[in-house]
Amino acid sequence: MPVTTVIEPRWVIPVIPKAAVLTDHAVVIEDARIAAVLPAADALVRYPDAPRITLPGQALIPGLVNLHTHAAMSLMRGMADDLGLMDWLQNHIWPAESRIVSDDFVHDGTLLACAEMLRSGVTCFNDMYFFPEAAARAALRAGMRAALGIIAVEFRSAYAADAQDYLTKGIALRDTLRDESLLSFCLAPHAPFTVSDATFSQIAIYAGELDLPVHIHLHETAQEISDSLAAHGMRPIERLEKLGLLGPGLIAVHGVHLNDAEIGLLARHGCSVAHCPSSNLKLGSGIAPVAGLLQAGVNIGLGTDSAASNNRLDLFTEMRTAALLAKGISGDPCVMPAHRALEAATLGGARALGLQDQIGSITPGKWADLTAVNLSATELSPCYDPVSLLVYAAGREHVTDVWVGGRQRVSGGVLLDLDENALAARANHWKNKLHPS
Ligand SMILES: [Zn+2]
Repeated sequence: MPVTTVIEPRWVIPVIPKAAVLTDHAVVIEDARIAAVLPAADALVRYPDAPRITLPGQALIPGLVNLHTHAAMSLMRGMADDLGLMDWLQNHIWPAESRIVSDDFVHDGTLLACAEMLRSGVTCFNDMYFFPEAAARAALRAGMRAALGIIAVEFRSAYAADAQDYLTKGIALRDTLRDESLLSFCLAPHAPFTVSDATFSQIAIYAGELDLPVHIHLHETAQEISDSLAAHGMRPIERLEKLGLLGPGLIAVHGVHLNDAEIGLLARHGCSVAHCPSSNLKLGSGIAPVAGLLQAGVNIGLGTDSAASNNRLDLFTEMRTAALLAKGISGDPCVMPAHRALEAATLGGARALGLQDQIGSITPGKWADLTAVNLSATELSPCYDPVSLLVYAAGREHVTDVWVGGRQRVSGGVLLDLDENALAARANHWKNKLHPS
């Protein structure tokens, strides 16, 4: 017998159909998947004996998809602020990582990030970091869905010796974990400035053979473009096109510095952009041309980037910031309306990961990855349009309940399976190792 639960929220915002808002509806979970979305009166008739969860002030939305993270770096939150990307990486982050990154560090940091993300309504994250096996253990322990990066860079780390070693280890991990329903994999070459042509060519072959998305930082800073012109005589996107990397599986993280021809190229190849507005602002990298990308039909998801460059793993902040920046920089207040921002934070991320048939909307047959947001708080009153409240007024503090694959992980704003005191103690343990006081 399947385990059936009926959820009766004030609003169901399924994301498909576009901009739909359902009232007096129920969502039925059967085991791990969504079995039905139907009028609440019909749910009473069809599922008279099923347990009911009534959420009288809440909107039920698809679980949020964080399309770009380095989850373990939560242990470096606030360690080096107010710096440009290359100074931040070369003089602070990379030296710290070379001293401290290990299997244990990645496990503890990723678990801390999972706790923050679950409480913020995120049910799936797309990660890129060393020791992905440790990140996988943490995601499974937290009960979160994760796309793990088969990371590749040219430099040695505690995890791997060279680019081929990174790829061999990542692909072996993917073979070991391929039956875990919560996990999927992306090839994750770090960036054009840390990966060679030979490694990119190898990754293009693996992407085709293994049918995996390619998750890469791309056109993040103006310096990345000028360095590429000096070293390769072409801009990074042109280089990736020549090496066979552009295609529907490409997740271009940031895409801040794009000209019109490059936006057209991304659209023609069916690529996705992981838009990370807070990280781009904090590192002073610039603002992605979201209006142009949307107009060209490029799929957009939202990411936080790491807690070392954001410094919060909060997609409510990213939705609001993305919508406001797109309007501000284009001079067109109609760009990225609220429902479009919510779509980017859910279905857009799912599409980029090739998981659009599994997650990203409240649709029968998909995994029951669901987030309930309390819209009855004083600061959210009155309600003319729940999607407007979600994007422009609500925050992650209004998330009350979260399910991943039908299992409830957050209830009444409280994590059901993780001990937050223990997580904080481990975070302090690593802080003391990084910065002994
Ligand atoms: Zn990043």
